Amino acid sequence: MNHNQKKEYIIAGNWKMNKTATESIDFITELSGRIEPDPRVEILVFPAFTSLYPSKGLSANISIGSQNIFYEEKGAFTGEISPLMLKDLVSHVLIGHSERRQIFKESDSDINKKVKTALQHGFKVVLCLGETLEEREREETFSKIKTQIEKDLDGIDANNIQNIAFAYEPIWAIGTGKNATPDQAQEVHAFIREILGEFLDQPGETRILYGGSVKPENSYDLLSQQDINGVLVGGASLNVESFFGIISQSYKLIHR
Ligand code: PEP
Repeated sequence: MNHNQKKEYIIAGNWKMNKTATESIDFITELSGRIEPDPRVEILVFPAFTSLYPSKGLSANISIGSQNIFYEEKGAFTGEISPLMLKDLVSHVLIGHSERRQIFKESDSDINKKVKTALQHGFKVVLCLGETLEEREREETFSKIKTQIEKDLDGIDANNIQNIAFAYEPIWAIGTGKNATPDQAQEVHAFIREILGEFLDQPGETRILYGGSVKPENSYDLLSQQDINGVLVGGASLNVESFFGIISQSYKLIHR
């Protein structure tokens, strides 16, 4: 079945702990001047918290997301960020990035609470999934992804799942320069869509992004895959030239 009749893309940049507020403003302003607004390509960046307020409303063509969210609204949670604080600033929230899972020990249960909170407050969610190199070598990729989806979406209904885009980010490909091949990525994306069929009547409409060493040079082949609806870019999103290089590949594909 061709799930993916209407190809639309999300090109997202995760800036991680990079860029001051001034650098973020400069980046968004410069990128905004270069992009060709088209409803078939959504451009999204995830700046650091300190850049969210200054980035707000800078460009009508670039959506802004938060790299994290806490599942309580207020209280004694030093260093955390509340959905109420993000509400007027961002449209999207990134949840479950492998750095949050690995370095900050976020469990699937934490991630499930964050996804629920974000959806309740009306944010769109980009939920990251992915296996380690050891899991891939032990042929546990599919079971790992299935477990993550089932635990992270536990108790969330189909109407809400429609507001989640998934990002398949094999951990061995993040920041390593070693991307999954388009075939490897497509295989897992098709599997994610199949699992989403347990939750949704029309999993073909869900956006599934690939992340892991995406660059201008490999993005066309990745974005050409049937079940790849966009990319989540780390390193190559820090520079306007390379991020725009990736965006340009999506323009080529929609005009193909
Ligand atoms: C990421 O951290 O989401 C990521 C995909 O990083 P990179 O593009 O640098 O591999």
